[in-house]
Amino acid sequence: MRALRLQRWKNEPELVEVPDPEPGPGQVVIRVGGAGACHSDLHLMHDFEPGQLPWDPPFTLGHENAGWIHAVGPGVHHLEVGTPVAVYGAWGCGRCPRCLAGVETYCENPTEAPVPGGGGGLGVDGGMAELMLVPDARLLVPLPDGLDPRDAAALTDAGLTPYHAIRRSWPKLPPDATAVVIGIGGLGHLAVQILKVTTAARVVAVDTRDEALELAEECGADLAVRSGHNAASQIRRATRGRGADVVIDCVGVDATLALAASVVRTLGDLTIVGIGGGTLRLGFFTIPYEVSVQTTYWGSRGELAEVLELGARGLLRATTTTFSLDEALEAYRALRQGAITGRAVVVP
Ligand code: NAD
Ligand code: ZN
Ligand code: ZN
Repeated sequence: MRALRLQRWKNEPELVEVPDPEPGPGQVVIRVGGAGACHSDLHLMHDFEPGQLPWDPPFTLGHENAGWIHAVGPGVHHLEVGTPVAVYGAWGCGRCPRCLAGVETYCENPTEAPVPGGGGGLGVDGGMAELMLVPDARLLVPLPDGLDPRDAAALTDAGLTPYHAIRRSWPKLPPDATAVVIGIGGLGHLAVQILKVTTAARVVAVDTRDEALELAEECGADLAVRSGHNAASQIRRATRGRGADVVIDCVGVDATLALAASVVRTLGDLTIVGIGGGTLRLGFFTIPYEVSVQTTYWGSRGELAEVLELGARGLLRATTTTFSLDEALEAYRALRQGAITGRAVVVP
């Protein structure tokens, strides 16, 4: 079969021929129905050096996947060939308390996972291929009725990541609260929708691009603000001087972190989701009192089931542009140039 593989750090991936995967005991092979092109893949191609992550290329890209059961290994009895499934992408050891709770992102025995802190498309072969090997049936969530793998793929990361970040801040989002989402790309446009369907907070979207701001409004944002000098004062005015109760930064560069810190309000949450490499200076006088600052990584298996439920009920829908496997490199090029509205999904 063909697969889009990252062969070396600091390189573009290559579309190459590889052997079809075969499922071993407890394993499953899926026929990929959709593999999302995440901005993190651009960081993998361009930003990381050897030794910076606990794993190295070569591996097949694509960590945002859904498809149909293609073949099951010995001992897998509950999944029938042809069943549509989403892949939970953070692969832990499966046995530690965190993994048992479904929070495999923060596995306590990372050396017993397929690779430490990774998963399919992140150190192990992912979904930018016709078939994908999933090392344990527990990592598959059958799709609820009404959700197609092509639509579900983006929900497994671009949906799950902001869902987890927002869910942990629910107590700070009563109806008179304001949430700010910075960066309305793959993650951000779903973050806006998740805020609208799971809270009654007012939602402010920030981006540098017209198309992204338009998409934010289509997704239900109450206010769309262009990133730049006036963004903070616009947000302050819109909140009658109070500022934002929750800021979700889906970019994570110095400028967006500074904006987040300047608009977050006392007792608020400032959550860094984007891995843009920026830093936030933190000290007693740099941030309002009792603001909690956190990074978040992806989400849990249980939260993935919740996100898929929102998708199946039509409450959460990724805006996607589809590409064939042959066009996958083109998808990443467009993403890099800021020419994708919503999510690019490769349909092998
Ligand atoms: P994307 O390219 O689809 O979207 C990024 C958006 O940010 C674009 O709309 C772009 O116009 C906008 N933007 C860029 N600079 C900006 C600025 N200065 N001010 C306002 N907006 C700006 O990317 P994505 O796939 O949604 O990923 C977003 C970030 O989240 C990336 O850094 C990615 O690596 C990271 N990510 C993190 C996790 C996690 O678990 N923490 C998971 C997935 C992705
Ligand atoms: Zn991702
Ligand atoms: Zn574990």
